[in-house]
Amino acid sequence: MNKNKKKNVQLIIDNNLCCGCGACEGMCPTKAIIIDITKSYRPVINETSCTKCGICYQICPGKGWPALSWARSLVDRNTYWDDNYGPAYDCFLGKSADDNIHLQAASGGIATSLVILHPRSGWPQVAP
Ligand code: SF4
Ligand code: SF4
Repeated sequence: MNKNKKKNVQLIIDNNLCCGCGACEGMCPTKAIIIDITKSYRPVINETSCTKCGICYQICPGKGWPALSWARSLVDRNTYWDDNYGPAYDCFLGKSADDNIHLQAASGGIATSLVILHPRSGWPQVAP
């Protein structure tokens, strides 16, 4: 057995950790990974073409980077882990109070309204 063989993302897929980002397909040097989005966002690995270089596994976001400790150190030390959303500080529900934004947005327009309200956004340009 070749001692240099490394893991590929099949381990991620088998453990239901793939989010279908496509990074592995783009990075594989032997084109052994195919994502056929007409069927699924899950990668399919051609094990015959795979050299077990390990690149796909190395760059895969699904293998579990230390999201919570990262968020606690960079965002807020009170960040907690939510099984549905990952690292979370708090949870809110809302929609834009501006009907023009709300009715054109896919998710209630809250993100657009927050950008507009943010004092440093500089947008939209409004007449004094
Ligand atoms: S890089 Fe990981 S999460 Fe992204 S498609 Fe490949 S296996 Fe899935
Ligand atoms: S281990 Fe290397 S060759 Fe095999 S699928 Fe991943 S990136 Fe491609």
